[in-house]
Amino acid sequence: MVNHKEVELAAGLYLVATPIGTARDITLRALDVLASADVLAAEDTRSLRKLMEIHGVPLGGRRIVAYHDHSGKGARARLLAALGDGQSVAYASEAGTPMIADPGYHLVREAQQAGYLVTSAPGPSAVITALTLGGLPTDRFTFAGFLPNAGGARKKALEALRGAAGTLVFYESPKRVGAMLSDAAEILGEGRAARVCRELTKRFEEVRCGTLAELAAQMKDEAVKGEIVVLIEEGRAAEMSDEALRLRLAQMLETMSLRDAADTLAAETGAKRRRIYQMGLEIGGR
Ligand code: SAM
Repeated sequence: MVNHKEVELAAGLYLVATPIGTARDITLRALDVLASADVLAAEDTRSLRKLMEIHGVPLGGRRIVAYHDHSGKGARARLLAALGDGQSVAYASEAGTPMIADPGYHLVREAQQAGYLVTSAPGPSAVITALTLGGLPTDRFTFAGFLPNAGGARKKALEALRGAAGTLVFYESPKRVGAMLSDAAEILGEGRAARVCRELTKRFEEVRCGTLAELAAQMKDEAVKGEIVVLIEEGRAAEMSDEALRLRLAQMLETMSLRDAADTLAAETGAKRRRIYQMGLEIGGR
């Protein structure tokens, strides 16, 4: 069965999301774009070729151009020139959504600045999949991508995220996840709830739940394999900066009275109701 169809694509750059595990998570529109674009470009040409093969999308004589942000100006210039010639260019990451902890930034910026159409064929991304499965609040989240590898820099980066609003989301390598969890427990607080989401959409998909201290202890000496997203619940009042509390309150005041918002936020965070109420008055809540 052929799932794609060739369509008339307007000239422009199409950012195509690809599966993060299960090949059939590709969208039909992504297949249409891949089948129809004049030019194909990819972070990893082999992965895109394989994905197209799996879904029976013919290359039709097209070459896949290798592109990542460090490919240098030459590769980018070629893609921009194709856009300038009125061609449609499809760009895909090795897995997931381009631009999300993946290349594409300079290409997108320059295409936008030159006035070309930039659009997407959206689809899988590990950050959204992990949030969907984690069972932690998702009304707000802070995506922090990959933390620095070195211990000192990692602790500093975690320190800066202590009062960040919403659930924290990190991409992490299996080699470092144990050390990362133990630094996070030390810097953010041992009792914060966390999730280690591994191999999402794949055969050995797993979501481990626990506090930071529990997960750090579990994973300290374990040889973990696969791809990982770590989720950490938002800090409680003692760790929450005024800025984070104020942001949360302002959002609640859009739909709640100050009295109700102060009650709810005090219960949620453990912060003093009076402090929250006062803050609410200062930002115009009633
Ligand atoms: N652009 C991709 C996206 O939209 O999710 C992310 C690319 S980033 C270079 C790769 C990282 O994403 C992995 O190291 C891992 O942290 C996370 N990741 C990707 N696929 C995953 C999966 N199936 N399960 C868990 N984490 C995944």
